[in-house]
Amino acid sequence: MNFCSQCGHQVRFDVPDMDNRPRFLCDQCGTVHYQNPRVITGTLPVAPDGRILLCRRAIEPRHGYWTLPAGFMENGETTIEGALRETVEESRVVGLNPQLLSMVSLPDFDQVHVFYQIDMPDFTFETTPESSEVALFHYQDIPWAEIAFRTVTVTLEHYLENLDVERVPVLNSVVYRHMRPVE
Ligand code: ZN
Repeated sequence: MNFCSQCGHQVRFDVPDMDNRPRFLCDQCGTVHYQNPRVITGTLPVAPDGRILLCRRAIEPRHGYWTLPAGFMENGETTIEGALRETVEESRVVGLNPQLLSMVSLPDFDQVHVFYQIDMPDFTFETTPESSEVALFHYQDIPWAEIAFRTVTVTLEHYLENLDVERVPVLNSVVYRHMRPVE
């Protein structure tokens, strides 16, 4: 940030009084521009036969790689609403029974990724402007080498490790920069 979004004055990066870390400060209007992590919310859609829905990304980053439907949470919505909205936008699936599955902090990227397990009402899905391909995978056919993001990999692994559990526990995890996004 170079200029204040409130008044247009040049900002400086310094620790405010009574604070413990540097912020963008505007000396003209006094605004402190706090910057905080963003939430990415998404789903792990399960078809009636147990197969998992994945989307092949038609957009950057990780164009061409497979992912679970997910995206940035919008102001004014809940994490569940955002997850279901992103699922419609990326696959046209209207999910049911969202159950929190994973919450992964990415402190090096200033993000938190949240995934809900959802039930697909039927086998209906479509490609979209964001997904060049949408497909259902048996667990043994997950394209692990082509998964777009490390948080998607750990969420899929966690779900599959708990397939025989009636209610899957919530994975609370951390992904750091040095972890390769794809294994
Ligand atoms: Zn200002």
